[in-house]
Amino acid sequence: LFVDFPLAEGATVPLDKAQANYIGNVLRLGAGADVLVFNGREGEWHAKVIAGRRRPEELSVVARLRPQPAPGDLHYLFAPLKHARLDYMVQKAVEMGASAIRPVITRHTQVSRVNIERMRANAIEAAEQCGILTLPEIGEEQPLAAAVAALGPDRLLVFCDEAAPVADPLAALSAARRGPLAVLIGPEGGFSEEERTFLKRRDNVLVLSLGPRILRADTAAVAALALVQATLGD
Ligand code: SAM
Repeated sequence: LFVDFPLAEGATVPLDKAQANYIGNVLRLGAGADVLVFNGREGEWHAKVIAGRRRPEELSVVARLRPQPAPGDLHYLFAPLKHARLDYMVQKAVEMGASAIRPVITRHTQVSRVNIERMRANAIEAAEQCGILTLPEIGEEQPLAAAVAALGPDRLLVFCDEAAPVADPLAALSAARRGPLAVLIGPEGGFSEEERTFLKRRDNVLVLSLGPRILRADTAAVAALALVQATLGD
């Protein structure tokens, strides 16, 4: 369970309504039950539920079980989709180890403003489900050019392009990789020709095909992140 609260032996952590509901009604845990908690900074802790008259009210922190691991370093840039597909893209990116999640606005992006709070809630849910202790940094939406410039020169941009020649993607990633990586996935309508030209002009770029079929953006994201993780060995 994620709690935005300092964790230490003997500390008491108040539960908000949603957390109390999750513990009491979804997990059906009562007073004295054991839960695992993390706050994204201080590792994973064992805590016990303290219940009020009607529902769980607090957690009593017992002991640290795992220290905070060193954070990964994988940036994920994507053109945000609408509603449930955006939720899915954020959840899967967290599960696949993205350390920074950056929505980018491209010519054909259909969403002009993203709801950062909703993205954060999805990231927390995904981290809780797969035991990740460090939440990714989630950025505001940015125009494509600004987001690419912000990567700096040393980060390899893995530009996923359905128009790229089909080749062995793992071999291409291994050959191109020298330092940290960023994966870029385009919108439902794909990148424009100007955007493709701009992206290919970057010095540190790998134009990557994910195979001969045009994948949905959310499918392409999972496929690309899985390939990158296979290359990184994480
Ligand atoms: N219209 C579909 C949708 O609603 O999602 C497909 C859109 S596809 C153009 C979206 C993005 O997925 C592309 O901009 C590209 O980044 C990535 N993509 C899809 N298929 C790919 C492939 N075979 N190789 C590389 N990237 C791919």
